[in-house]
Parts: sequence; C-alpha cells; structure tokens
Amino acid sequence: MGNAETRREFLTGGPTAATLAAIPSQGASAAATAPPWYRRAYRWGQTNITERDPVRYDIAWWREYWRRTRVQGVIINAGGIIAYYPSKYPLHHRAEFLGGRDLYGELCQAAHQDGLFVLARMDSNRTAENFYRAHPDWFTRDSSGKPYRSGDRYVTCVNSPYYEEYLPAILREIIERSHPEGITDNSWSGLGRESICYCRHCAKRFKARAGAPIPPKKDWNDPIYREWIRWNYARRLEIWDLNNRTTRAAGGPDCLWIGMNGGSPSAQSRSFRDYKEICTRAEIIMCDHQARSDSTGFQHNGESGKLIHGLLGWDKLIPESMAMYQAGRTPFRVASKPAAEARMWMLEGFAGGIQPWWHHIGAYHEDRRMYRTAEPVMRWHEAHQEFLVNRKPVATVGVVWSQQNTDFFGRDDAEELVDLPYRGMTHALIRARIPYLPVHADHVERDGPNLKLIILPNVAAMSDAQCAGIRRFVERGGSLIATGASSLYDESGEPRKDFALAGLFGAHRQAPPSRKLSPGPHHTYLRLTPELRAQVWGPKAGDEPSIEGRRHPVLGGFDETDILAFGGLLDPLRTDSGVAVPLTFVPPFPVYPPETAWMREPKTTIPALVLRDLGNVSRIAYMPADIDRRFAKDNLPDHGNLLANLVRWACGEDIPLGVEGPGLIDCHLYRQAGRLILHLVNLTSAGTWRAAIDELISVGPFHVRVRLPEDVPGRAVRSLVSSLRAETVVSQGWATFDVTSILDHEVLVID
Ligand SMILES: [Zn+2]
Repeated sequence: MGNAETRREFLTGGPTAATLAAIPSQGASAAATAPPWYRRAYRWGQTNITERDPVRYDIAWWREYWRRTRVQGVIINAGGIIAYYPSKYPLHHRAEFLGGRDLYGELCQAAHQDGLFVLARMDSNRTAENFYRAHPDWFTRDSSGKPYRSGDRYVTCVNSPYYEEYLPAILREIIERSHPEGITDNSWSGLGRESICYCRHCAKRFKARAGAPIPPKKDWNDPIYREWIRWNYARRLEIWDLNNRTTRAAGGPDCLWIGMNGGSPSAQSRSFRDYKEICTRAEIIMCDHQARSDSTGFQHNGESGKLIHGLLGWDKLIPESMAMYQAGRTPFRVASKPAAEARMWMLEGFAGGIQPWWHHIGAYHEDRRMYRTAEPVMRWHEAHQEFLVNRKPVATVGVVWSQQNTDFFGRDDAEELVDLPYRGMTHALIRARIPYLPVHADHVERDGPNLKLIILPNVAAMSDAQCAGIRRFVERGGSLIATGASSLYDESGEPRKDFALAGLFGAHRQAPPSRKLSPGPHHTYLRLTPELRAQVWGPKAGDEPSIEGRRHPVLGGFDETDILAFGGLLDPLRTDSGVAVPLTFVPPFPVYPPETAWMREPKTTIPALVLRDLGNVSRIAYMPADIDRRFAKDNLPDHGNLLANLVRWACGEDIPLGVEGPGLIDCHLYRQAGRLILHLVNLTSAGTWRAAIDELISVGPFHVRVRLPEDVPGRAVRSLVSSLRAETVVSQGWATFDVTSILDHEVLVID
C-alpha cells in the first residue's frame, strides 16, 4: 500500500478501526498493515442517481441504509452523460435538477466520514446534442458520415480526443475535488461490435495498423474485418491503461480506474472487452450482471464468479451489481424485485466467489419492499466473510472456453455455436453435482495439474498452441471429452482439413467442415450399440456391427432402451482402429403424419460417440453428436445423464464430492488452510417454473461425502446457515455426513 492511500484515508476519515477489525487475520496492527481497499471491501452499495434525485435525496436515510446493510464501499454517480457536481467544464452536462448543489461531493464526503470506500461512477460514451455541435470531430460516424446516436444522444468515438483529452480531464477534476478510492464506468468501451465507425480518427489509425481502409461492411470471411475486430479489442485495452495512468497520477497508486465488465464472455465480446487481458491488468473486477435469465438460471452467477476468478485469481474480489429492482425480461426500474428472486441470485454469486453489491435505481422509492431484501443477506455475508473470500476451488473437471472461439467461430451465431454447448455441458455437471471449473483455453497447462478431465464443448476455434496444451495434458495422464467441431478451426476461424486433435479423438473428418447451421430440431435418434471389438469396427468393416458383447459403461442406466432421442445431424467420420463406438446415428424420418413415423434407416455406421481408453489412466471421448447443445435446448434428462456418465467414466474415481438426495442442487467446493467449504444452493424451487421465484421450498435430506486434502482432518462439520454442528465419519480419506434440509442454500465448513 502506498503512502498516498494512507494519507488519503487519514484525511478523509478512511475506514474506521471497527471496519478494519472486522477483517479476519489482520490482528491488532490492522490499521498499519491493512491491504489496499480493493482487497478488503467485501460489500458494496449503489444508489444509481436519477436527474430528479438532487431535490429529494435523503442523505441521512441512505447513510443509515449503508450501515444496516453493512456495506464497506459505495458507488456514487459523478459524471459522464450526467454530472452530479458543478463541473468546471461547460459541456459536462449537469443533472437537470442539480441546481447549485454538489450532490456527488456531499455523498462522497458522507461515505468517507462513515468509513466507506467510494468509487466515483462515470457513464461516458454518449453526450447531448450541444456537445456534438461543439466537437463534431469526437463522434462516431457510419459509412455515410452520419453520426451514430443512441436515443437522442450522440455516441463518442474511442479513437477521438474525447477519450484522450476530455475524459482524462474529467477524471482529474473528480479526483481532485473528492478523492474517491477509484473510478468505475458503466459504458467505458464505446461503440459496440455491431457498428463500424468510419470517422477520420478511426480511418487514419486503422490504415496505419492494417495498411487498408476500414472494411466496408461486416464480413467474417474477410481477414481485414477480423483485423478490425482485433484492433478494436486492442484499443479498449489502451483506454483501460490510459485511464489507470490518469487516475493513479491524480490520486495515488491505489486510485484505480476499473470500468465495469459483464458476466459472460459473449457479453464481453459484444463490447470488445477482452476479459483475459483485462484481468491481467485489474486488481478488482466490478461485475455488472444484475439478474438471471430463464435460459441460464441462477446457476449462471456461480459460473460467472468461477470463470472470472479463473482469469483474475482467487485472491482478488469480484463485487457484482445485484438489482433490488425488477431487472429481467421486462424491466421495472422502481418496482421491487421479489425478495426470493434477488436473494437466490446473491447466494449463487457467493457460491461462485462473488461479493454482494446492492443496486437501486433512484434515491426515492414508493415501493419500499426493496429496502428489506439486501440487509439479511449482507449481514449473513459479514458474519461469515472469512469463509467466503481467499479460498481455492476444488474440482477435477475443467470446462474450456475462450473469447476468440466466441468471436471467430461463433461470429454472429455465438449463442447457438458456442454458448449453448457450453451451457448444456455445465448444466449437466451441475445436475450431476460434479464440481467443475471454467478453464480458459490458454490456461489448460496452468490449471491442468489440479484437473483429471478437460472438456471441450464445441470449442472449435483453437490455436496450434492451445491444441498442444491439450495434448500435453493427456500425455501427463489427463482425460479428455470433446464435442462437435472442437479443434476443427484455427484461432481466426479458418477451417482445418481435419480436427487438430484428430489423433487424440481417434476420429477424422471425411467431408470439409461447414459452419452453416442446419435448422433443427431434426427427428433423429442415437442407437445404443453393444461394446464392439476394435477390429470389427474399423473404417473398412462397413458392415453392420456384430451384436456380441455388453454395452459400454457410459450407457449405464439405459438398459431398457436401444435408442435415445437426439435432434441433431451427423456426418460420416473415419475412425482409427482400437476405438469403441457405443452410439451410432439414426437419420431423420417423418414426424407427421404419425402413420409415417417409422425409421427408414434404423442402423448406420455413422459414429455419434467415439471412445478411447489409452490403457494407462487417460480416457478420451469424442462426441460428434451435439448432445451438449441439445441438452441446453431440450432439457431431456437422457442427454444430461449421458453427459454425466461420460464425465464419470473419463474421471475414473477422481471426483472429490458426492451428494445424494432429492432436488436440483448446485455444489461448489473450496479449500482454505485446514478446512473445506462446501456451498449447496437449492435450485429446486426455480427448476419447475420460471422467473421470478417467490417461494422457497426446502429439500433434503442429503448424504454428503467429500474427499479430504492432507491438511484437513475432516472430523467435524458446521453449518453457516442452520448453525448446526456435527461429527463426520472419516474413512479412507473421505468424510461423510448428512444435511437434513436446505431451504435456499447451505454452506458447510469441514475441518
Ligand atoms: Zn471513430
């Protein structure tokens, strides 16, 4: 921690001794050795100020709310589209009802007096028309030269002096006036991916980089367009760095500029925000991911936390904006979100290592129920915070993702080609209560030593280096599951003749790949085959497979059926000798009229699943059938069970957790020195209907078994929710115990 930080805290009141004493493992000399603010602000609050609020903001009431909800930091609107202080820059538009008031400054001072950290909030990519008239040169232009607008506002260009001169001046002004700990920005990355700016700044700079004019239109097959994509990413990182240089120069080494970022790679892609590179620069991620969607569920918040921590490190914090208002399909900015809905989103965030940050729109509400939602959750968080941060995840399954796959393979169909396969795979893991971690494709070697199994859910665009990382993981005894087009494209999205990992898969393309989506679903099936002898199943055999032998263990639980519903299409593949093919493709036949619904071609030799048991400890499954995507779409239990079977087979016995009992439970396992921490989130109530949830339904009992690391004796277990303590049964390195019931969530400490 730098001297500037100490001095600023002293001058502004800083965190009080009481605040610091609440942080674990600091001891009596906490004040002298306290880590910087971004390592110890575990709970945040944000009242997103509307233009009307300066005449009705009851600061005393909100201070009491800060205290009740145990926040340690607040995010306060300062400037950008709307200024909440009397800026000396005449074009910095003051809030309509600000009058002569410095509302931002008053709130900042109050927060500092209360021992809270302050992030000044900006929202900086648009302006009113008078600004545009004064500096038309600073604004984005379409190919006809017309300025891009968002509503009645004009969108500024990231390559213009607006970002290089004007915004840094605003940041300096805010820091000099009020000394916030840092600055956030809601819309820092400018124009999104769907619009191309042709302003003269962009034209000049792109020419200098690419030696070509800005592409005339979106065309993913054009290498110049792809270079334009990469150039845009690079520019956002330059802005990130410039803003940090500015805030640190003005406010000291810990005065960070931290923007805001999204909760998923596809959201980041739409805004040219390279999550991996941002996380190498960031000390803390302020995550703007406020509510669940019906398609991804509450569990997406646990997933987001794990994915971002995988990039950022598990020693850093990821506060997340959590809407107390009705965010969702139809937003209602000033109506309360049902408390159970908001609560479950928060609890899933905790399970993924996310910190709470309540978010209200406006400082005055006629729907006062929203003020009751955060307090009990935040108080629980405070009471148990030592178990909720600075921990390492325990999982043996890694699910690979990369933003380049989202961009250069997914292109305009990333939801279908990239997100759905990933989601189907991870939902199958959650449903089977198998702990997993998102692993960036560049981090397979870094994370590999802790993992038994790597999964590539249709990770098509992979560099040679990323593929080499997968090969080394398998050489060292790791197992692999890959689906669909994994490794069939290079990092720019150019197709390869065959899978780069074909040698591992034991399967080869026969036809050139096609990115084209065939509209589905198709009335297709998979045929369960007996375990076949390698010599029978070869490229030359061609004949109907022999019917000897038993079925493969990955088909466990399907004894009473010879077929499974599928829904996708499959191309022929050439397989290497020595592989097992327990599933084959049954081509489409009519659905209507019912009289025609009979299989025209009941058996083919087109593989739907190719298995290799390398004889040592590595097992490899290549699944051309897009069961992962189908599971995300159709939610058929057979598909989830098949994926779970595959994972269990590929892992051998190497899964550190078993949870038996009814319901849909999302399990997250962590370790700290001498203890394990297990989150069990009850998703059962939400699983039967759709948002919003308004009644929590308890499920149980559960029988839990967890593998003990060497430094965890595991003889006792205590609950952080129901406050029960119990002895465990320890046997052969595993602890077992029972959990009677779970209402919303349970967190267990095993030590
Ligand atoms: Zn431009």
